[in-house]
Amino acid sequence: MRVFGRSLPMLVLLLATAATATAANPASGKGGWKAGLAKVVITPERPMWMAGYASRTSPSEGTLHDLWAKALVLQDDQGSRSLLISLDLCGIDREFSIGVREEIAHRHGLPLDRIVLACSHTHTSPVVGSNLITMYPMDDEQRHRVASYTEILARTLVELAGEAMRNLIDVHLSHGQGKAGFAVNRRENDQNRADELRAELALKGPVDHDVPVLCLKTSDGTVKGVVFGYACHCTTLALNHFSGDYAGFAMIELEKAYPDAVALFVAGCGADQNPLPRRTVELAEKYGHELADAVKRTVKGHLRPVLGCLRSGYEEVDLAFAPIPDRAHWEAEAASDQFAVANRAKSFLERLDRGESLPETYPYPVQVWRLGGLTWIFLGGEVVVDYSLRIKRNLGPDTFVSSYCNDVMAYIPSLRVLQEGGYEGATAMIYYGQPGPWAEDVEDRIIAGLNRVLRASAGQE
Ligand SMILES: [Zn+2]
Repeated sequence: MRVFGRSLPMLVLLLATAATATAANPASGKGGWKAGLAKVVITPERPMWMAGYASRTSPSEGTLHDLWAKALVLQDDQGSRSLLISLDLCGIDREFSIGVREEIAHRHGLPLDRIVLACSHTHTSPVVGSNLITMYPMDDEQRHRVASYTEILARTLVELAGEAMRNLIDVHLSHGQGKAGFAVNRRENDQNRADELRAELALKGPVDHDVPVLCLKTSDGTVKGVVFGYACHCTTLALNHFSGDYAGFAMIELEKAYPDAVALFVAGCGADQNPLPRRTVELAEKYGHELADAVKRTVKGHLRPVLGCLRSGYEEVDLAFAPIPDRAHWEAEAASDQFAVANRAKSFLERLDRGESLPETYPYPVQVWRLGGLTWIFLGGEVVVDYSLRIKRNLGPDTFVSSYCNDVMAYIPSLRVLQEGGYEGATAMIYYGQPGPWAEDVEDRIIAGLNRVLRASAGQE
């Protein structure tokens, strides 16, 4: 792994020289906001198994562009801090995430509700920890590489957080929403006919084309950081070369446009959305450009200041699985000729042999930051678009909804998608090694948990 090979002092640290840039920001309270940014390459140095597709039969063969971890610390005028780390990774598991967040919390005195690890869900990134582990036909050497990469990545992220904390400078904080149109509802449309359907005005199904933007500028107007999102799978590419897919290209373009800035991508509720058409590097670059362009237009013309202070909330909601089959079911599945089906069943049988039972619920993370009047919701798992549309329909435009945050344990269907079934509603649970599908109250439980966190973060509980 390149970054780890050349050790932590090689972290690419921005803003370190800009610490004297401004005095207080009168537009955002008594002392205004401070922000600290840092970034580090996390591209593996050795060939590794790549995450996200079951169809791969061999490890990575090179790098299209580097993968990054990027950290943003925000501090309000009361000295309250929060930390966002964006990751060019397909997903992370609960054990990895809790370990990293607890270590950061311990070292820097931040509570867990102030720390977010956000995955872009790029499918041209390495496998991390046990995320989607039943999907991959890895040999022992590849398993060892995943374990080794995961361990070093955890240490790197803790160090990265510390660097961002040390880089705090005064900033003007503002937000807005742009639009980009390349996400297509993949459940409702023939993915091979996306261009034709578009030309015929015949694309179907719900989409969320918002591009939320959080912008950090110094008092002279220099853009120092930009956080942006989009609700669409990072699956333009299926190469065996590492890349951040369209989100990676967008960040590259934005960091060229704003040479003093760090650009961080945070995925939205795009679990049932694909960038279509897809599968060429040119298309990944094109979508990256469309997204970067939406961000630049928003930064140029439609930003509102973030006034007020930082508040937060976090809860792990018990999400119930549908009734779990008995041992005979898993014994039958263990004989399946489908690799992932048999793999999941065998791991469950091993647990049952050890006298353990299979879990009936999962601790699902729901997190909220309030930055003045901006409400930013961070959901775990691969969340379908129904959630962001429902949330924004109710909370209005000063709301960002991010997904793939803190723990990517499964797809998170709405009741509609659960009842329809298919990949996002049911069968993806096999690859995530969950005894699912979720029970029919999945959406109710998440919305109820989110309501509790929203009330708590508003100081109403
Ligand atoms: Zn996915």
